Amino acid sequence: PPRLAPSEGAKLAAKLRTLSMSPTESFRPSGLKDEWTPTSWQAKPIQQDVVYDDAEAVEKALEKLESLPPLVTPHEINKLREKLKDAAEGNAFVLQGGDCAELFNYCTQEAIEGRLRILLQMSMVLVWGLKLPIIRIGRIAGQFAKPRSKLTEMIQGQEYPSFRGDNINGYELEDRTPDPARLVSAYFHSAATLNYIRGAIASGFADLRRSFDWDFSHVQSFATRTRYEEVADSISEMLQFMHTVGADHSQQLNTVDFFTSHEGLHLEYEQSLTRKLKDGYSTDSTSFYDTSTHFLWIGDRTRQIDGAHVEFFRGIRNPIGVKVGPSMKDSELVDLLNIVDPNFETGRVTLITRYGCTKIKDHLSSQIEAVRNSGHKVVWMVDPCHGNTKVSPKTELKTRYLADILSELQQALEIHSQNNSRVSGVHLELTGDAVTECIGGSEGLEDEDLVIRYLTVCDPRLSSNQSLDAAFLIADWFKK
Ligand code: PEP
Ligand code: MN
Repeated sequence: PPRLAPSEGAKLAAKLRTLSMSPTESFRPSGLKDEWTPTSWQAKPIQQDVVYDDAEAVEKALEKLESLPPLVTPHEINKLREKLKDAAEGNAFVLQGGDCAELFNYCTQEAIEGRLRILLQMSMVLVWGLKLPIIRIGRIAGQFAKPRSKLTEMIQGQEYPSFRGDNINGYELEDRTPDPARLVSAYFHSAATLNYIRGAIASGFADLRRSFDWDFSHVQSFATRTRYEEVADSISEMLQFMHTVGADHSQQLNTVDFFTSHEGLHLEYEQSLTRKLKDGYSTDSTSFYDTSTHFLWIGDRTRQIDGAHVEFFRGIRNPIGVKVGPSMKDSELVDLLNIVDPNFETGRVTLITRYGCTKIKDHLSSQIEAVRNSGHKVVWMVDPCHGNTKVSPKTELKTRYLADILSELQQALEIHSQNNSRVSGVHLELTGDAVTECIGGSEGLEDEDLVIRYLTVCDPRLSSNQSLDAAFLIADWFKK
């Protein structure tokens, strides 16, 4: 093709820039500007990358993943997209929760049922308080890869690679070398977990009249216990009423929608499950879907504007989340939204804010304002856990104070309301078990209690009782 002299080319480029480009857009040859493929992220700088010893074994694992069927379908992903649009418009509320690091050995009937049960119970409290549909999303069936602030840790005077999640390396000290075979294992553990969730729900596990044997005997304060019992009674009455008038013959009460999610951290894994698929079985239009899960989010450590993760996320049709920590600048947030939500789709992006209970007041208002002015219609979700992680003074275990968590939640509700905005979701690290990883709550866990059942391999999770405390706080806010 005829080439322009360099000076001519530069002049033309400058002219085009002033004619058609917005100030933030850099000039690139036409056609190349927006090119995206499931592997285009590989040309970008990446954080939290995993380096494997055996390139051939990685190739083999990815080839296997590419041959396996989708874990979730476009139909399901699109259904969640529609629901998140409702949430962005204030007509639904999202409850997202689960483990910090899901382990392969949480893939048991008991562990899956425990996690489902607490999320269902919390969602009933929220339905009661908000009178809105609740969108339930588990951090489950794939929440394996973990970003770490340090790549190694000292254990009994010796340095080991940090645990980076079950799909990368193992928690046991002898398993800390990244093993690509774990990626295939992650797929099958996700599949088994998802299969049981689908089966249990289709078989009536979520029958709301059945799964609520409320027990508040742990609640130490008499006033709080009385309040919880009143709410549980009115939920039961509500369900009984629907039964009496026959409303529970509809599918609605016996079965619920439940979606899965995880942090989209390990991009080779995500890329292998990203497929160009029809948007539904009866249409010819297609999009790229990451079929590893319904909803993925970008972590606070991997959200660089020009980085690999943002590049990957911008091309997938799934609804996505972005964690927003205190280091996020308002302008950076808007630049990021312009990249991952170029078509300004209501509810495509969920902003999951996690500043910490002492910092939220310095950041949230101006970010609400910046996003409003940008024109992007997001779901505002609060993650009151990740900005509030501390080391316990007595046990030196990583912990969180429920008081801090509830304080960030409460402040988020107030700040949104003062800014004519609305919290439309909550994101919590929790488990269905009676663990002792966070301090406080209605059962009165204290610092020295942490050692009793401290089971997490990553961040501290709310126990099922503490999770209900959080649900009651949100429900009470909207009720009044
Ligand atoms: C997490 O959700 O487990 C996590 C690491 O969060 P963040 O990216 O917000 O730190
Ligand atoms: Mn975590």
